[in-house]
Amino acid sequence: MRAPQKRQRRKSQKIQSTPLHVKLPSKTARSELLIAYELNGAQEFINLLSKHYGFKRMKIIVDGRKVRNGFDACYSENKACFKKNGVKKNIVLHEFYHHLVNAKGYEPRETVEEKEANAYARESLKVCF
Ligand SMILES: [Zn+2]
Repeated sequence: MRAPQKRQRRKSQKIQSTPLHVKLPSKTARSELLIAYELNGAQEFINLLSKHYGFKRMKIIVDGRKVRNGFDACYSENKACFKKNGVKKNIVLHEFYHHLVNAKGYEPRETVEEKEANAYARESLKVCF
């Protein structure tokens, strides 16, 4: 006798996608960039990513005193400051998105920019090895 089929509830895969104002590098380029991150660290990764877009590089500064309480990092004028434990790929990519929109002269509302920065980081990390 066959076991009764389990009903599988499929989690809704509908995740609202956030439109980005900056095009992501291709999947292949993203894989290569992430390998560079693993091998050479965050600054080299950002240098390569900046070069990819043709923008001035964003300087990474690890100095928690420059970061507001309750935050891991902040961005202002070509510089991203991180708390020691804030230097993580997704946070680096998030701050880099602020750098990109700043370099492009695009000024969305703050809440929109934050949402887009999160989406940029999330999408950038979607690669297959
Ligand atoms: Zn942000």
